[in-house]
Amino acid sequence: MDISEKILALKTEKGVTILAHYYTPLGVHKIADRIGDSLGLSKIAKNEVEADYILFAGVLFMTETASVLNPAKTILSPDKSAGCPLANFLSGDDIEKYKEKYPNIPVVVYVNTTAETKAHTDVCCTSSNAIKIAQKIAEEHNTDTILFGPDKNLASYVRDRTDLNVISIPGRGNCPRHNLFTKQDVLNAKKNHPNASLIVHPEAPPEVQHLADYIGSTSGMINYVNEHENDSGYIIGTEVGLMEHLIWKNPLKKFFPLNPKSLCENMKKITLEKIYSTLKSIGTPEEAQYQVIVPSDIAQKALLSIDKMIDYS
Ligand code: SF4
Repeated sequence: MDISEKILALKTEKGVTILAHYYTPLGVHKIADRIGDSLGLSKIAKNEVEADYILFAGVLFMTETASVLNPAKTILSPDKSAGCPLANFLSGDDIEKYKEKYPNIPVVVYVNTTAETKAHTDVCCTSSNAIKIAQKIAEEHNTDTILFGPDKNLASYVRDRTDLNVISIPGRGNCPRHNLFTKQDVLNAKKNHPNASLIVHPEAPPEVQHLADYIGSTSGMINYVNEHENDSGYIIGTEVGLMEHLIWKNPLKKFFPLNPKSLCENMKKITLEKIYSTLKSIGTPEEAQYQVIVPSDIAQKALLSIDKMIDYS
């Protein structure tokens, strides 16, 4: 048996559901029960998974969100050192300082934040519902100003599409894998593939977004490809894992990376070997090292922020 076959046998034996993010290695997609974006997977974990154990193939903030939404289930991470540089731009203490500087202004954060950060906010959002959430929270607080973090490019995307005064906190936050895209990348890709559709993630810089045929979340990009036929192909402006997924699922369509260097090292830490070790640990003393546990006081406050987003969506 190869390692994928061993994993499939072991997850059945141990009664585990494996959820995988699109940016993990393609081999992980192939053994996962469900593949999706961070919040979509957490909702699946909450509403559709009967297993007591969930192995979450993704970075730490995603496993924390799954844990906050599913306190009765055991959430396992194959590598708890797989963090997210974007999430690290904004802590709970940082938010408290911004609240002092801007009293009575609601705080919206991207789901790409730690549970500890979410616990200090009014509401969180995803890249697909950011505009709606920003408008709703401003309306509820009877204001036209919001604090929005930590991604400065997503903040700019919301600012461009609403009448709100969107104050980006900390103002320099970015995902290094999406922020590396440049206008020159677009010009190069368009030169090589002139009629291909350019689809990009809102974590990309504004000057790249402004040249795109479509801007959306990973799920939105997949829907776009499914709903549009372009024989010239699609230039993919997000982490390369999504492109590998699209090639796998759409063998007759053509895909080109906007920049092949957009590779998230943290997502690639989630390997088949580590997933196998995690599964083997279940029911042994080693299991504890893979369990993701959010302290209950933080989890309860973070849940309010996540639940408000779900209510608004
Ligand atoms: S792709 Fe960017 S936002 Fe996503 S986990 Fe990696 S560093 Fe974080």
